[in-house]
Amino acid sequence: MDNLIVLNLDDYHNIHTKRRADTTTTSDVHHFQTILLKAASEIPAIPFTNLLMKKNIHNPKGIDVDLVVENVSHSFFPYLWLTYNERKFAFSGELPKAKNHEEHVEMLLVHCYDNRIQQRRDDRSMNNTKLVNLVEGNLRSTEDYVKALQNVFNIPELKLYLEKYILVAPMDYPGQYFVRHGISSCMNSTNTSELSTLLLHIVPMIGPLHVSLNSRETVFLLNYAFFNKLNCEVYSKKKKLAKKPKPYKINVLLELAASGWSLIREEVLAKFCNYKDPEVRYLLDLLDNVVPLVLDFYPVIFRSGYWPAYKEAMFRVWMLFCRYNRKNYNKLPIAFFSDVFYWFTTHHPMASIIEQNFHLFNDYYVENFHSSLRLQTNKLNSSEQIITQAKIIDQKRGNNQFKEIFSDPHNIIYTEKELEFMKKRTAIFLLELFMKIFNNHDKVIKIDASGKSGKNKNKIQYKLPTLDTIVDAKLLPLAWSTSFHPRTERYCDREDCELSHNVGCNLACGHSYHYKCFLLNLSSQCQHCNEYLTKSIIDNGKAFQNSLNSSDEDFLFKEEKEEEENMDEVENDESISFDTSVDTILDNLLSSFKDLGVEDSQMSS
Ligand SMILES: [Zn+2]
Ligand SMILES: [Zn+2]
Repeated sequence: MDNLIVLNLDDYHNIHTKRRADTTTTSDVHHFQTILLKAASEIPAIPFTNLLMKKNIHNPKGIDVDLVVENVSHSFFPYLWLTYNERKFAFSGELPKAKNHEEHVEMLLVHCYDNRIQQRRDDRSMNNTKLVNLVEGNLRSTEDYVKALQNVFNIPELKLYLEKYILVAPMDYPGQYFVRHGISSCMNSTNTSELSTLLLHIVPMIGPLHVSLNSRETVFLLNYAFFNKLNCEVYSKKKKLAKKPKPYKINVLLELAASGWSLIREEVLAKFCNYKDPEVRYLLDLLDNVVPLVLDFYPVIFRSGYWPAYKEAMFRVWMLFCRYNRKNYNKLPIAFFSDVFYWFTTHHPMASIIEQNFHLFNDYYVENFHSSLRLQTNKLNSSEQIITQAKIIDQKRGNNQFKEIFSDPHNIIYTEKELEFMKKRTAIFLLELFMKIFNNHDKVIKIDASGKSGKNKNKIQYKLPTLDTIVDAKLLPLAWSTSFHPRTERYCDREDCELSHNVGCNLACGHSYHYKCFLLNLSSQCQHCNEYLTKSIIDNGKAFQNSLNSSDEDFLFKEEKEEEENMDEVENDESISFDTSVDTILDNLLSSFKDLGVEDSQMSS
């Protein structure tokens, strides 16, 4: 047993209802700790000690913000003037593309861990997984996690393994927090008990599926006004979209936004390239940066196995969490980068393993297992029955009959023709939106929303006339989260610029510079945004480290967990009515869009 093993540790509960119903009393609900291993027979185990440098896997400084700042400034900052879509071209040769409709749909269903759907691609990935245990219990404190890990430590072979090697544990936020908290107290104490030594050999890592799920949901909920309009247009509905739809519905709307955008992208960018209007910049950022990033993060970037693309995408997702002020997830990627850069600078063997094989550090295995378990149990089952069923599922893994259980074909997926139609409907909606914006520009109103209480100090909002909604500054591109909002009275955002012409580059962040100012004075990087990001890395990294050092574990993670309920359920697709004129409408709109304001200066003030 000298091969790499990945540890999944997560909680499971037997709630089958759609939402946690008021009638559900706590006595009905059983909570379990699931401990699952995945072995990669072809990859060597990761040693705890780095013999070369006489250092171990953990950075004694904890979350090392200086190391993170130093590395991200030369690895990622030089590319931040590009949107995610623009930057993706550089990696496109390394990234998988859906080759047919089936693969395309499979990418859409990435947060439905149902075997029936994921079967084709992921069956192989469930090979060599082994359930260590499924026991009744909560996962709500460091103590709970240590108790769950004891199931691993109690197995003699694994204990022996851990004397030399480590187990990487990709997890969601509570797991990351509590296990890191435990490790941090072991490192800071002189306690050398066997338990604390073993705990140090567990290395928590951010779970890509949870990053994907949380980023999609955050983007969707914060930009609800836009997605609600999109939904009404594409499905010809008057009814409002649910305030918090299921992940599948969110995925479909994100996907439509990205694919509809791809049909009109070039024309729209050509028309608006020098606009500083906040509503224009908001939509360009959403469609060319935010939405494609969160859509690609797991199915395209993570699965590509291409490390340079993955680490940069992780940074870009962190930038989103950071500017949206998304609690916990604005800190977690900093901890990830701190670890990663430490392994690379100390030449720990983990560095080359993560570079070549990071796709193994997945939180998918346990989600898939829970999905099977949910399908094969019901809410009336006792905890003993659930545990028995879990063991049966585990034994049947790798057995061909296992697949037979899930052989019902799904009848929930749009056909290729339907998706293509909806994509065009979306393109029409977007194009009409941009035409209205063209006539509305310079009508955005800035609102000072600071409350008298001082609670909302410096809170700025913007009223977007075309979308007819008020948004917080954090929803606009990154520039509006910095202390230097893009100027409206002049083109260039370089502080001591004295040039007066209105041509240059509009960066992805929303700041604009004359070419000369950007290339020569600023060395092709946006100083306002670099400052904001650097400060945010330091603040969030330190805040997280402080919470790990403190003996007080009192923090709110309840909502984190509740968000994850019922991810397994797949809604039926809503029916759509075909309108054969869609192609003609789109073509006509595109040509009238190109003619818009050709005689104007095409310049916003
Ligand atoms: Zn300038
Ligand atoms: Zn900027």
